[in-house]
Amino acid sequence: MKAILQPLELRGGRLWDGIADTSREGSVFTAISDVGVTLAGTASPESRILDVSGCTIIPGLIEAHAHLCFNAHTDWREVYDSETYETLLLRMAGSANQMLVSGITTVRDLGAPTKLAVALREAIRARLVSGPNLLVAGAPITPTGGHCWFLGGETDGLEGVQLAVRERKKAGVDWIKVMATGGNMTPGTNVFAAQYSVEELRAIVAEAHRLELKVTAHAHGIEGIKSVVDANVDMIEHCSFQTPDGPVKDDEVILAIARSGIAVSPTINGAFAKERNEARWHMRKTLMKSFFDARCDVLMSTDCGIPDTPHENLAQALIVISDLAELSPVETMKLATSLSAKLLDLPDRGTIEPGQRADLLIVEGDPTQDLKSLQHVRIVILNGELVSEVK
Ligand SMILES: [Zn+2]
Repeated sequence: MKAILQPLELRGGRLWDGIADTSREGSVFTAISDVGVTLAGTASPESRILDVSGCTIIPGLIEAHAHLCFNAHTDWREVYDSETYETLLLRMAGSANQMLVSGITTVRDLGAPTKLAVALREAIRARLVSGPNLLVAGAPITPTGGHCWFLGGETDGLEGVQLAVRERKKAGVDWIKVMATGGNMTPGTNVFAAQYSVEELRAIVAEAHRLELKVTAHAHGIEGIKSVVDANVDMIEHCSFQTPDGPVKDDEVILAIARSGIAVSPTINGAFAKERNEARWHMRKTLMKSFFDARCDVLMSTDCGIPDTPHENLAQALIVISDLAELSPVETMKLATSLSAKLLDLPDRGTIEPGQRADLLIVEGDPTQDLKSLQHVRIVILNGELVSEVK
């Protein structure tokens, strides 16, 4: 069923369009469901007027790496293992809505049981439940016993991985995710070692591209990072160059990533700021800066859902990445708006321009001056619909 929504007219305040170097004053524009954003003076008499004085209107934020099925606490695995599918799905819906009211209007879920992720995306689209726009990968492709095997994506060998891509296409996923190294959250896997051969990774990429899907690869250690670069995946998650001593960058590999046009989704979260082991912080900072220095395509992601990373962590995590990479507030916000929209192939969002989807976030103060303003959410508008308002 399609709801008929009242057009919204936003008056006063400032506006940052997702592209400009600064915010500008005195915006009057409307947000209309299915029509998108219309700038200046076209409001109709039936519009609902929202006074946003003292606030800034920005594009709704995009989270490129989430796990709606994890609860963000240290007991995540016990909870995940003990829940029925029904309960898990309801919890995922709750987490999705929590993200939406925090100003995140698009979320890419990079690891959940395939059927649940697709069901939730469809339920939100059909407006059965409230939540952000979802892009889903379903269960990441992983070898038997490999990282996150418990999400249901174990597959081995060339035929196995090819079939896995076809199954996901049939199920209706938006991205293919492959676990190219072990991960911290799966005992018995090795973060520093590759989990698949380059041939298996190439088979995944070839099959996904044939089916018009893009591939993002989870990779921590350099061996796995090198193999996904060899296989020419579209994006790398974490890309942390992890060694037992901490992240150690490799300039040659970073240049290869930049040259191949492989995007980097670095999964930076608020917990990094708490960690503050000076030596490791410095190593991480060196790595982050080298991605930008090499002109890699970087977008913002947090890996929310993992312990110490609540689903609505993005606003806080943006402060951490601006600190690590020494970016201005505007450069930082682009990573979670216009740049992420571009790298996720979502040309209808990430900026505020006539005709764009009316996914808007209205925060108190001006985040182009101070990113903390992103944590003071006043109004969230999803596709022209006012979904959250703090009075
Ligand atoms: Zn993850």
